Amino acid sequence: MIEIKNLNKVYENGYEALKSINLDIEDGALVTLLGPSGCGKSTILNIIAGILDPTKGDILFDGQSIIGKHPKDRDIGMVFQNYALYPHMTVLENIIFPLTVGDKKIKRDKAKKEAEKYIDLTYIGDIRDKKPNQISGGQQQRVAIARALIQNPKTLLLDEPLSNLDARLRLSIREEIRNIVKEVGVTTVFVTHDQEEALSISDYIAIMDEGVIQQYDKPQNLYLEPANLFVAKFIGSPIINIYDVENDGDVLRAPDFIINKSDLVASRIKKDISEARYSLGIRPEQFNLNENGDISVNIDSIEMIGRYMILHFELNNLPSRMVVDSKLPIKPGDTIRISIDYDSIYLFDQEGKRAY
Ligand code: ADP
Repeated sequence: MIEIKNLNKVYENGYEALKSINLDIEDGALVTLLGPSGCGKSTILNIIAGILDPTKGDILFDGQSIIGKHPKDRDIGMVFQNYALYPHMTVLENIIFPLTVGDKKIKRDKAKKEAEKYIDLTYIGDIRDKKPNQISGGQQQRVAIARALIQNPKTLLLDEPLSNLDARLRLSIREEIRNIVKEVGVTTVFVTHDQEEALSISDYIAIMDEGVIQQYDKPQNLYLEPANLFVAKFIGSPIINIYDVENDGDVLRAPDFIINKSDLVASRIKKDISEARYSLGIRPEQFNLNENGDISVNIDSIEMIGRYMILHFELNNLPSRMVVDSKLPIKPGDTIRISIDYDSIYLFDQEGKRAY
């Protein structure tokens, strides 16, 4: 198990990249650090790897601090965005390289035998004698993973490993990565800024902004129960609709509709709705087509996705989105009536915390 305790990092120029990070990662879990560029993901990964020292705080592996330990004594495998394969070596030589150097080095024949397991696991048998410049990006990524795993690390660190691959390949390799690390059982910390990628492969996600963890949760909870406005806006595609509403007696008032507080589900109210204004969050699937709906909108444009399509319209003077079945005969220029699914909308207070 990995325990990150009050981790803080101030770079030499005085920039505080990590505020006070606390994170427990269970043995064998696949945990993703997710957040916009610059939020501190790589800083955490590099401190775990021993490439960087923290300013304050501690990291424990199975109860033992690893701070101050040499990177090679931390039992870590690391895969970077640019793969960092040795260009003059074949795939097989790249994979066995870690076993042929250092104190734990073993005979080449034995190393080659060991490599077979990981070559099978990553489906690269037919390219074992090729050089990195003769294989595709996806194959290079598999080689990098095989090379990290052959050292039998307790922890695997993956820093944006898919960002150099095209969209379709990213989809299949992310599934493969999950299968591989689960098969091996290695505890994995994965870094990405891509929320869909994080949702699809992780057991748990730590979503970060400006050096602070905003929520650490299962993918499903991050989507359905975002802790704050930042998480609600970061997770979900198409992006959630956010409207400013005024708290006015028994109702919440937006320019184009009102919400009766009595329609809110009591069990979902997290704190008194007593502030003057709230941010109302409505996911694109929380608008329903409804002939008797109170809200009428004009469709500006339609984005066809496949199983569903995204309707774009203006509501409360803001560009808004909803998703509907792509079979529906709706066209740009149509006026439709919609209603809101009250039991799954969100309210955020002025600090961005969930109120409903
Ligand atoms: P992420 O991986 O989430 O994109 P990083 O961990 O790389 O973010 O960086 C976090 C913040 O720290 C960024 O604002 C970045 O500019 C800053 N930073 C990273 N490395 C250094 C450094 N060596 N000196 C000063 N600031 C740095």
